[in-house]
Amino acid sequence: MRQTLVAGNWKLNGSKESIQTLVKGIADGMSDVDGTAVAVCPPYVYISMVADLLDGTEIGLGAQDVADQETGAYTGEVSAAMLKEVGCQYTLVGHSERRSIYGEQDADTAAKFAAAQKEGLTPILCIGELLEERESGDTENVVARQLDAVIELSGVEALADSVIAYEPVWAIGTGKTASPQQAQDVHAFIRSKIAGLNADVAAKVQILYGGSVNGGNAAELFAMEDIDGGLIGGASLTSEAFLAICTA
Ligand code: PEP
Repeated sequence: MRQTLVAGNWKLNGSKESIQTLVKGIADGMSDVDGTAVAVCPPYVYISMVADLLDGTEIGLGAQDVADQETGAYTGEVSAAMLKEVGCQYTLVGHSERRSIYGEQDADTAAKFAAAQKEGLTPILCIGELLEERESGDTENVVARQLDAVIELSGVEALADSVIAYEPVWAIGTGKTASPQQAQDVHAFIRSKIAGLNADVAAKVQILYGGSVNGGNAAELFAMEDIDGGLIGGASLTSEAFLAICTA
């Protein structure tokens, strides 16, 4: 039985004050969250502060991105070792906003995935298709290509120590959610593709759904066989909305 995980991606949002309030609110509500692991991914500059605020709670900590390099002349980058040192257990890699706004390629994401694992961070590998790719029937090809880049570099076994987040790009921040069946179909495809290479890894890997999840649709999505929780953007920015998903 895979454990459910709900992770909040705060993106470029928050201030010291608002984040203190948010973390306190989530921590206070954790007694109502049963059997689901919870994690938050603040902007880099607040990670240390959030690590202190989370001390003594069950809430995990992640970054939103990580460098594909270990050290050196890479202005603006933050390494996996640095993230680990300040208390992260997770990092997102390949979020669609990194891919579409900043031009991150599949090979870049694969290198970030490997860099994270090398330092003992659990990568949350984000994959998903654009609207035009879904409409042209290419969803499976796209997620297979994105997964293959990681498998080619790190091997299928590496997925056992990672989390996959299926996030259809047309559903991110748009208020449009994939139906539970649409999401389940892609999750089942991802799991069966991995099973074709290694059945144990496929059975173990958590596959989260992301894309306009909220307290009203989370329970139905999370009830699907291959959906093991959610990666949450907008609805992770208030403790009430986030906890409604964590308790779903
Ligand atoms: C995300 O950015 O990963 C995400 C799922 O955002 P939202 O929940 O706002 O669609």
